[in-house]
Amino acid sequence: MLTQEVLEEVRELKRDCIVLAHNYQIPEIQQVADFVGDSLGLCRAAQRIDKPYILFCGVDFMAESAALLNPDKTVLMPDLEAHCPMAAQLPAKLVREAKEEHPDAAVVLYINTRLEARAEADVLCTSANAVRIVRSLPEKKIIFGPDVNLAWHVQRHVRDKELIPVPERGHCITHLLFKPEHVKRAREEHPEAEVLIHPECTPEVQLLADHICSTEQMVRRAKESSAREFIVGTEVGLVHRLRRELPEKRFYPLYEGAICRTMKMNTWEKFMKQLRERRNAVRIDPEIAERAMLSLQRMLELSA
Ligand code: SF4
Repeated sequence: MLTQEVLEEVRELKRDCIVLAHNYQIPEIQQVADFVGDSLGLCRAAQRIDKPYILFCGVDFMAESAALLNPDKTVLMPDLEAHCPMAAQLPAKLVREAKEEHPDAAVVLYINTRLEARAEADVLCTSANAVRIVRSLPEKKIIFGPDVNLAWHVQRHVRDKELIPVPERGHCITHLLFKPEHVKRAREEHPEAEVLIHPECTPEVQLLADHICSTEQMVRRAKESSAREFIVGTEVGLVHRLRRELPEKRFYPLYEGAICRTMKMNTWEKFMKQLRERRNAVRIDPEIAERAMLSLQRMLELSA
């Protein structure tokens, strides 16, 4: 728990700065953030900023989205080296090759993608809106990357289209840690609990879920459900948020070891350093920015 003194210092330093934090951030950062949410919620929050600085606590592709949406503001990160390993699995060259092979396909990329690759996409998606975005397109063939597990989830719900995963085995190393045994054990230990699973998990794990949800959908489900207990199948950071916002309910991580090392590169010390010094500004190549912005804007329009 942060002391009153620390909270006061943060409040003072935040006068001209908005703090946006992803659901997987450490509890202390979540506690002082102006907005905590998933990739889609953070994009929407980034559209409404009225201060000159944004301290973005998440990973590279999220901060870059905030920078694209706020070209007149300075977007900072606690650690500029927080690069999402999944985003690194899809170089722009692979997308270009897939487009040559399937010229009649639309390109839908998960927002967890580097800007160079996003510049090749027709539209982006998040785990919260992927099914809706793919359904809304007229094309019957969809090049989809980089997460093959999210592609599987979308294909399950959109039967009349063909999804072509690029690369063939793109994945999140954190969500790959969840195994069917974890679900079976958790159900035995907490037979009354609802099982919420993120679509970045493998199909074997998704098939054992009560609900497949993005992190924000998990928060909504926990608020609206009459269940009192939940098994949470995503990075453990979300469990902190759920326990803070719904102290009357009980939340159990599906697997305690599901920790995203990249998200956790944003320590409290680095956070405070940026709040005080403001040196880690996110820089974007203006040429790529222009093209990458189109796919981001289209996603926001289609999911409005
Ligand atoms: S949880 Fe997975 S997708 Fe999210 S930042 Fe970490 S590695 Fe990337």
